[in-house]
Amino acid sequence: LGEMRAGTAAPAPAPSPAFVDRDGLLSFESLPRYKELTAQQAAADMLGLKNPYHRLHEGRSGATARIDGREVVNFASYDYLGLNGDPRITRAVAAAVETWGTSVSGSRLSSGERPAHLALERALADVYGAQDAVAFVSGHATAIAALPTLMGPKDLVVTDAFMHNSVVLGAQYSPATRRTFPHNDLDALETMLSRERHRFERVLVVSEGLFSMDGDGPDLARLVALKERFGFWLMIDDAHGLGVLGATGRGIAEHAGVDPRAVDIWFGTLSKSLVSCGGYIAGPAAMVSYLKAFAPGMVYSVGLPVPVAEAARTALGLMLEEPERVQRLQANSRAFRDGAAALGLDVGPSWGAGIVPIMVGETIRTVILAQRLLERGINAFPVLPPGVPERSARLRFFLSASHRPEQIDAALTALAEEAGALGLIKDRPR
Ligand code: PMP
Repeated sequence: LGEMRAGTAAPAPAPSPAFVDRDGLLSFESLPRYKELTAQQAAADMLGLKNPYHRLHEGRSGATARIDGREVVNFASYDYLGLNGDPRITRAVAAAVETWGTSVSGSRLSSGERPAHLALERALADVYGAQDAVAFVSGHATAIAALPTLMGPKDLVVTDAFMHNSVVLGAQYSPATRRTFPHNDLDALETMLSRERHRFERVLVVSEGLFSMDGDGPDLARLVALKERFGFWLMIDDAHGLGVLGATGRGIAEHAGVDPRAVDIWFGTLSKSLVSCGGYIAGPAAMVSYLKAFAPGMVYSVGLPVPVAEAARTALGLMLEEPERVQRLQANSRAFRDGAAALGLDVGPSWGAGIVPIMVGETIRTVILAQRLLERGINAFPVLPPGVPERSARLRFFLSASHRPEQIDAALTALAEEAGALGLIKDRPR
């Protein structure tokens, strides 16, 4: 330092030569799955198929949607109860925007806590008779925030093999050991727990109330019995069960006649029956306080905008006040599932509640079927691997309380002809 002050600084190092990206790894096109992307598009172009992803909807999507300037009957919306755009929700949201603006402009921990958050969380907790609930800004991020916060390195997370990606990632981001059991195979779960339970401190078993790809669910009463025998926390992702299952739409517990307090952790989303955006966890007060204090998605992320929270709370109120919506959805779902099965189509293990897959198998045939149906004014989304196991591509139909019987009939008629032309109809009705 003394020498530098005296003006005898060491000569500046020669500029190093520019980095040469010999392997081209800094080009984004070299990312491992980029080829897949281009290959998919090339295959679609070759077959004259339109890319089914990111299709533009030109208006509000519910029982109908506007695609390519044309109104179609829509079976690709989460709006199970037909509440999106309900004037009562729109008015509540408009009033909330007027009063609170569009953002809470801070994490709830620091400066973003508002009465609407607490009101929504109380209403959600009450659905499950739970002590408390906490809402996050995204359903997907809720699981990612919750699992690593609750589960430590001496713990085990066991998930159904068909769990939604949010729970899979939440488990991966936690330091716990992970296991899966074959879809809904509670015998396999029991065997695994008999062998492994003693090796871990806390164990979390996670299933879905209504599986988003297959439209079936677990034997909840048996899961509760296993929990009592082996000692674990039971977490249920009832994202698709709320508003869809049970006489009043309270989900899988109501459907199964199980006390919802037997489930330790209820996980759900505000984006489906509740026509808003965000996710929640409901359960014992200690668990909820723990997440509020330590879950990164709560501590380091902005709180829900008040209008978004108010949309969900108003929708939840309407779900409970108007159980006829739930009944209409259930009747529509059964009519579609039974109609499709009677045609000889494979509806998988679907319960006929909200979600009905039409199993196709091959990816290309699934995309062709989706396109032909769309040409006939029926929109249903093709679900392809890796979203589902190989060779189990399917067309997924979401039913809504606002579908009219003639719209369901139109879908069945189109399916009978187009699926028949693709050789998907079995000889004998199931
Ligand atoms: N769980 C399940 C079973 C889901 O299907 C989804 C969304 N498709 C989520 C969680 C995540 O919810 P969101 O879309 O509101 O982020």
